[in-house]
Amino acid sequence: MKRLTSLFVMLLVSASAFAYTTNKIVIPDIEGYKTLKGDFHIHTIFSDGKVWPETRVSEAVWEGLDILSITDHIDTRSRKWIKSGIISSDCDSDTPYKLARKAAARQDLILISGGELSRNRPSGHTNLLFTKSNEKIVIEAEKFNDDNAKATEAGFKEARKQGAFIMWNHPHWVKYSPNETVIGPVQKKFLEEGYFDAIEVYNAECGYSPEAHDWCLKYNLAIMGCSDAHDLMFNKIDYMGGGHRVVTLVFAKERNVASVREAMNEKRTAVYADEMVFGREQELKPLFDACIQVKNVKWSKKGVSCTLENVSSIPVRITKAPGSEGYRYTRYIIIPPFSTIRFSAQPLSNTGGSASLDSSVRKVVANIFVENFHIGANKPLKTAIKFVR
Ligand SMILES: [Zn+2]
Ligand SMILES: [Zn+2]
Repeated sequence: MKRLTSLFVMLLVSASAFAYTTNKIVIPDIEGYKTLKGDFHIHTIFSDGKVWPETRVSEAVWEGLDILSITDHIDTRSRKWIKSGIISSDCDSDTPYKLARKAAARQDLILISGGELSRNRPSGHTNLLFTKSNEKIVIEAEKFNDDNAKATEAGFKEARKQGAFIMWNHPHWVKYSPNETVIGPVQKKFLEEGYFDAIEVYNAECGYSPEAHDWCLKYNLAIMGCSDAHDLMFNKIDYMGGGHRVVTLVFAKERNVASVREAMNEKRTAVYADEMVFGREQELKPLFDACIQVKNVKWSKKGVSCTLENVSSIPVRITKAPGSEGYRYTRYIIIPPFSTIRFSAQPLSNTGGSASLDSSVRKVVANIFVENFHIGANKPLKTAIKFVR
């Protein structure tokens, strides 16, 4: 069946120059680290999702993910759903992880336990990742059912005892932030007390939050992006049209749980959503170098040229940046996934006309902006294509 699907995808690709060659997200490793793709926020029938945990595992493997964390709502409401629905009453908020773990054991997928502590305002929703017992967290939170901020804090304290990693979810959700995305007094307290390790800068339901991106930079938090899917992935994503789920990229030393956690603690993460990448300069610069490979460099009197090969699923958009005024090169380039383009830089005379490249010139630097790699709110990555002979 999988082979048939691949064949179908390949046939579609041959019909459209811009279609993708695979349903799997392909992003190369960067210098010193493996680039792992993870979804750290997703729901199942164990809260308000529509699919079983095992299905979440299959979907993740199909899309080429390395890491998955099923994060059903862990609160009184979900516990009532579990106990009143089609699910056996001996299940609890740790059951989805146990079921998914069995399925993931047969697959090449890193599964991380977690839950979404979804108290109402003013505390809002948070994901607790790498938990040992979601049930213990719910029990602690429920002791303060008449005060959401206290309930959340009690849940955080138990989560911390378990060594959990805490992400502030969708701070830009219009239901809780109808006019503007701000750090409310409760979140300010949580930030100051060091509870937050990460913010969900991109949530597939709410989109991108430039404010949250800048808060991650300001407060040194991990930049995360997640699907928060409740429905079947195939109902949400137009895979045949080249779509993919929102993923967090984790730049890990090894492909295992301990290395994923170490990378997240050290904030070596980024987000790949739609055709955009959001992160920090120190990760996005090497990521660009890994995705766009400079090959077949040729020097001549006219200038220097090369092939730029995109070895990733990410379409890359480049514009000319200041600092290379002595050279003429195309001001706007799109390099589609898995494709190559020719790129050349030609020297200019003082009057702006063509000049010949002196053989004594050993280095040419073509400064560029990578328009779809953002290292802050509305801030494209500035880097360069460098030629040395
Ligand atoms: Zn939520
Ligand atoms: Zn959610």
